[in-house]
Amino acid sequence: QRWAFKPIFLGTAHPRSELAQHRRVVNSQKCVRAGGKHNDLEDVGRDTYHHTFFEMLGNWSFGDYFKEEACSMAWELLTEVYEIPRDRLYVTYFGGDSSLGLSADEECRDIWLRLGVPASHVLPFPLKDNFWEMGDTGPCGPCTEIHYDHVGGGRNAAALVNQGSPDVVEIWNLVFMQYSRYQGNLLPLPQHHVDTGMGLERLVTVLQNKRSNYDTDLFTPILDAIHKGCRGPKYQGLVGDADVGRVNMAYRVVADHVRTLCVCITDGIYPGFSGAELVLRRILRRAVRFCSEVLHAPPGLLASLVPTVVEVLGDAYPELTKNADQIMDIINENEAAFLSSLDRGRRIIERTVQQMEPSTNFPAEVAWSLYGNLGFPLDLIDLMLEEKGISLDLAAFNKLALEDAKRKAGGPQAGQLEDADIHLDVHSLAQLRSNNVPATDDSPKYAYT
Ligand code: ATP
Ligand code: MG
Ligand code: MG
Ligand code: MG
Repeated sequence: QRWAFKPIFLGTAHPRSELAQHRRVVNSQKCVRAGGKHNDLEDVGRDTYHHTFFEMLGNWSFGDYFKEEACSMAWELLTEVYEIPRDRLYVTYFGGDSSLGLSADEECRDIWLRLGVPASHVLPFPLKDNFWEMGDTGPCGPCTEIHYDHVGGGRNAAALVNQGSPDVVEIWNLVFMQYSRYQGNLLPLPQHHVDTGMGLERLVTVLQNKRSNYDTDLFTPILDAIHKGCRGPKYQGLVGDADVGRVNMAYRVVADHVRTLCVCITDGIYPGFSGAELVLRRILRRAVRFCSEVLHAPPGLLASLVPTVVEVLGDAYPELTKNADQIMDIINENEAAFLSSLDRGRRIIERTVQQMEPSTNFPAEVAWSLYGNLGFPLDLIDLMLEEKGISLDLAAFNKLALEDAKRKAGGPQAGQLEDADIHLDVHSLAQLRSNNVPATDDSPKYAYT
């Protein structure tokens, strides 16, 4: 059953509609965060707990229970049902914001203390982390988040909460919807609501006592299938050595991206040229690139993983099982098109390099044309040049990108999306160079719109 909950929050749902009959709801949402306001693409593969597609478990109160019950139910589920040791958990609450005239959510803090969480594990955080908003207008409110320390051993890990450390990972966000923001003002909502979100993959990691989402049974079958398909080195998890790191990152990226491709294509989103479809095209090309350039896999590897994804997710999403053949066809067609442009790109790079004066930079115009005309990812151009010991004139490339963005300003939506895509690539280039450095919470995020 698909429902839009916003009318309930705003009090505009028709009182006799089916939706308005339910005051306590639980759900599981398919989430894709690879574009728009929430864009985790940059972190995926680099860390072990951000995915482009993940499942978000939620419980909702529509004008029913509020802070006290939401916190105590969450605590009971985690510590009594799942038996997660209490000393591994840290909770955060909204610390107040003077620009909005909001004081700290002491009510929430007190609830956690009453539930027995030690004060050293109850931490105030600012607006950016602990005030949830859909957008500039609409329902919003303070939130409280639960984080898990994967290391433990009696240490106090409070300083690592919300720092982007892979050791202390956020697992659950409880949002207390009590305001509606309108033209910069916060108005109280007629009723109070709760909206929570817990990442299934992160929860499974905790429950299966692993350090990485990729070490859980949601991902290991896919990683094994990648290994069978590429016959290269095995996946080894997060390790320091740069070369192994690159292969490991490729495993994670491919495993993550193939899940997203399966779920999106099944839901009718195909790799394309604007909006969500452009995002999916980018995901597909990124996956193909890691398959061929880093894992040295033969064409077809990506599509060959689909049956394994179906095995893992098919029970929860039967529509995947039905569409498996179609998903494989679409992946294969798109891969073939991209691989042929990769080939053309390679030849262009070869020719250009042969004509270059020694110790000069690769011409930005050629890189720009590869990017714009052949959809050649910039990080791939960089990788191929690096192998030849040549650098790209990034400043000149950025200038071309900027000029193009200006030319397209006010143009059609697809143009704007492509401009955003360019900045994303330029950014990933810098990160690729500092290979395998886990991204932190304050690393820049780029939106597609
Ligand atoms: P993070 O700070 O780790 O990026 P978030 O604060 O952006 O997470 P929320 O918007 O609060 O995440 O989403 C609720 C929950 O969904 C998170 O507590 C986490 O368990 C899960 N989650 C969020 N983003 C991802 C992702 N990209 N991959 C997997 N799980 C995620
Ligand atoms: Mg996030
Ligand atoms: Mg967070
Ligand atoms: Mg959060």
